[in-house]
Amino acid sequence: MRQVVKNLAYSLSKPFSLNFLRKLSGEQFIFPLYHLVSNNPPAHVKNLYNVTPVKHFLNDLDFLLQNFQPASINDVINYIKEGKKSTKPFFFLSFDDGMRECYEVVYPILKQKGLEAAFFINPAFVDNKNLFYRSKISLIIDQIQKNGKIFELSDFLKIYPISTAKVIDKISTLKYSDIDIIEKAGKKIGIDFNEYLDTYKPYMTLLQIKELQENGFLIGSHSYDHPKFWEISELEMREQIKSSFDFIDNIIQLKVRSFAFPFSDIETPISFFNFLTEEIKLDVSFGTAGIKIDTEPVHIQRIPMDVELKSAERIIKKEYGYFVFKFLFGKNLINRK
Ligand SMILES: [Zn+2]
Repeated sequence: MRQVVKNLAYSLSKPFSLNFLRKLSGEQFIFPLYHLVSNNPPAHVKNLYNVTPVKHFLNDLDFLLQNFQPASINDVINYIKEGKKSTKPFFFLSFDDGMRECYEVVYPILKQKGLEAAFFINPAFVDNKNLFYRSKISLIIDQIQKNGKIFELSDFLKIYPISTAKVIDKISTLKYSDIDIIEKAGKKIGIDFNEYLDTYKPYMTLLQIKELQENGFLIGSHSYDHPKFWEISELEMREQIKSSFDFIDNIIQLKVRSFAFPFSDIETPISFFNFLTEEIKLDVSFGTAGIKIDTEPVHIQRIPMDVELKSAERIIKKEYGYFVFKFLFGKNLINRK
């Protein structure tokens, strides 16, 4: 539904320039968010989100550099200090999930262009110790599509009569708390997740993360092992944050304490934001709701760039169009309880 309204807003905003829409919106500072930049979408993500091809990413950067100034981490902190107001058009990139392509593909490009950025990591996956539960799901779906032998899996999930589509549907909807079922389903279809971790090595190592930090990039928490926060209790949410910062504080001297919500910050209570600033001493947190005004003082919404594989020009103009469109209905503000 949101995509439909966004597309409508985009169509309506087409006759106007980005500059005009940006001025009208009053939102000068944008925060594009990516996961994985690569020409070869790996099996553990290809059923989850779009992988941005290298050329596509380079074109996005060209567009951003032509229309916005690259922001430093200090600019982000100043933006917060100024009450999330900026007189200049800025962009600041971030990359979630700590995939090894962040180090191998993104890092050299950013370094060459002299751009600062943030990388949000999950300690549970660093050094390829474990695999994100959704990535396990992606691997299972990939295996089903490859060998089509779903008899055992169908029986295990009690799907009768056997239907590949229904098995994939069921697997796709398994949750963080269904990890035992996901593990067993993997075994039934002949996947060894540990072997996959050892051979493919999807994530960055500790040494690579340290190198990024030493080269001026911001390393932040993306929770401990990436649950949907609206599916766990506030106590569990706090544990996710504490254990992730225990890990990060142990390896890195953080000048800026940052956290990006896994998936989304939807339904997050104010008490949790207070915990982040008061107990974790967080300087900045990030969501994924696009261009939006957020009433939480140190919380910033980012623009997901890989939900659909469209150019940065189109996605960002659409976001501005949507923002201005919603302004007419007073729907630009995120208010929390
Ligand atoms: Zn993530």
